[in-house]
Amino acid sequence: MKVDIVTIFPEYFAPLDLSLIGRARTSGLLDVAVHDLRNWTHDVHRTVDDTPYGGGAGMVMRPEPWGEGLDAVATPGARLVVPTPAGSPFTQAAAQELAEAEHLVFACGRYEGIDQRVIDEAATRMPVTEVSLGDYVLFGGEVAVLVILEAVVRLLPGVLGNADSLLEESHTGGLLEAPVYTKPSTWRGHEVPEILRSGDHGRIARWRRDQALLRTAVRRPDLLAAVPPEKLDKRDVAL
Ligand code: SAM
Repeated sequence: MKVDIVTIFPEYFAPLDLSLIGRARTSGLLDVAVHDLRNWTHDVHRTVDDTPYGGGAGMVMRPEPWGEGLDAVATPGARLVVPTPAGSPFTQAAAQELAEAEHLVFACGRYEGIDQRVIDEAATRMPVTEVSLGDYVLFGGEVAVLVILEAVVRLLPGVLGNADSLLEESHTGGLLEAPVYTKPSTWRGHEVPEILRSGDHGRIARWRRDQALLRTAVRRPDLLAAVPPEKLDKRDVAL
């Protein structure tokens, strides 16, 4: 996958050299380029913002540097992703959809956001997704892009050492994942559930399913209510 990120803070993306994303880059599964939006300004102050039409607090990102920047990096076939608290909620399903793209371009807003004409004009030429991380407001889109990229890149074939990790995760089958444990079996007086040490794979699978159902019912009843009935078995319904 090819990824271009346009931002006024390229330094924010140093973590993309680390861990599994860094390894995906060195192995050639992921090609990331980070661009400074100010490269597409033409005044001595390298200005990217101005006061809002209609008045009000704060500054708005000007369309000209964005237009030139997107013209340069969004080559045919690219898909533009614009983080904004006014976007549709970012979910695992949205991550899966983005993971199928060959070329993603991310536009990181700052201040009061990007002049809307940038997004509207881009949408005449390429698919555009305006996406929100949640119902709160960040300083800028950089952290949002790091989050979105982590969720997307781990879905790319070959990135995770064991692709089975993706199968029973929270937000994949509709339920939250059951709690997980490792050695030692007793720690500070807390025991690992006996069943997980039993070696009985059938009982362990059932226990995990029950725990996932219980956890989801308690913590996220909205998710449980959305599970289609055909995805539940008789034991689930008895719970
Ligand atoms: N004035 C905007 C509004 O009320 O919708 C908020 C602008 S925010 C201070 C600046 C930038 O941070 C946004 O353009 C966006 O890139 C990013 N941002 C802030 N909150 C976000 C969220 N919940 N999800 C995704 N991006 C967010």
